[in-house]
Amino acid sequence: MPEKMGRGRKNMPSWQEFNRLEAAQRNYIRLGDTGRTDKGVFANQDIPKFTRIICEVPTIDLRKKYLSTANVKVAFESLPANRKAAVMDLHFDFSDSGIATPLSLIFDQNAMDTDRGRILCTTVARINHSCLPNAMGNMNWLTHCYTVQVLHDIVEGEEITINYIDVELPKEQRDARLKAIWNFECRCLLCDQHFSARFLQSSNMLRAWLQQFRDTISRFDPGPPPITEEQARQQSLNESQHNSDIHQFIQTAEHEGLPGSLAFACWKAAESALRLNNRDLASKWASETQDILMKTIGIDTAEFNQVILWKIHNQLPSKQPIYFPQLESEREAQERMRLFQPRRGTFRELQ
Ligand SMILES: [Zn+2]
Repeated sequence: MPEKMGRGRKNMPSWQEFNRLEAAQRNYIRLGDTGRTDKGVFANQDIPKFTRIICEVPTIDLRKKYLSTANVKVAFESLPANRKAAVMDLHFDFSDSGIATPLSLIFDQNAMDTDRGRILCTTVARINHSCLPNAMGNMNWLTHCYTVQVLHDIVEGEEITINYIDVELPKEQRDARLKAIWNFECRCLLCDQHFSARFLQSSNMLRAWLQQFRDTISRFDPGPPPITEEQARQQSLNESQHNSDIHQFIQTAEHEGLPGSLAFACWKAAESALRLNNRDLASKWASETQDILMKTIGIDTAEFNQVILWKIHNQLPSKQPIYFPQLESEREAQERMRLFQPRRGTFRELQ
C-alpha cells in the first residue's frame, strides 16, 4: 500500500499542472468577436455555475519593487517563443500610440494588479469587463495560478466577463477608472442607460451605500473587555448596531450580485457573533463565508483555508479539513475535484 501510494504521488501532476489540465481538458472557452469592435472570451458549452473554467500560470509576474518598463522587457525576453507570441498576440491598434513601444503598452493594457505587483495572463487578458460580471477572477498564490470561476449557469455562446475594477463603486467612479486605465466606456448590462436607467440609478445608490458601509464595518472597534456594567451595556449596544449594519450590507451585496462583498460581510458577522459568545452562530457565518469562497474562488485558496484556521483557533466546530495543496494526498485531491462540481442554490445556501 505505501509503495502504491508512493508511485501514485510521484506520477501525480503538480498542483499547478493538475488545475491547468483539468480546465484545459474540458475546453470551456473560446475566443470570439463580441460584435462590437473587440474580441472576447465565450463559453464553448453550457457551464454549470461555480465551475472553475480557467487556471492559468501568469506569463509575466512582476513584484512591486521590480515594476518597470525595462523589467517587463527582461521578463518578456526570457520567455519561450510560443509564450512571446501569445503576449504579442494581445497587440491591438497602436497607430496613435506615440513613443511607447507596443510591448510596454501591451503590458499596461493587459496586466492585472495584485497585492504583490502586476501579472500578465494571456488567456485571462482576453476576458472583457462587466460591472455585472458572470465570472470571478482570483490570483491564487498558493497554487500560483490565476483562476476564473463562473458565478451563474452559463449557456453555450455566452460571453464570459470579470470585473477589472472594484464594482462596489458607483457608475461615475467606475467610468472614471475604466477610462483612466483602459480608455473605454463600459456598456455592460448595468451601464446601458437605455436598457435600465431606473435600474442603474437604484444600483448606484445601493453601491454607494455599500462603499460607505464597508468603511463603517471595517473600522468597527469592539474596544477592551468591559469592566463596569454600564460599559458592558454600551458595548453590547454598539455590537448590535454593528450587527445590523452587517446584515443590511449582506442583503444589499446579495441584491447587487457582489459575492466578494458578501464574503467580507459574512466573515464580519462570524467575528461579531463570536464576540457576543454565540458560538453556533459564529460557526454558521464562518461556514457561509467558506461556502461563498468555495463557489467563487475555490477551496485551494489562502482565503478559504484562513476561515478553517480561524474556526480551529477559536475552537469552533469545523468538519472541513485544510486544503493546503502541499499537504494533500491523491485521494484528497480527487475529493477536491469532486467538490469543484457545481452545486445548486444561490451564493448563500445556509441561511
Ligand atoms: Zn458596466
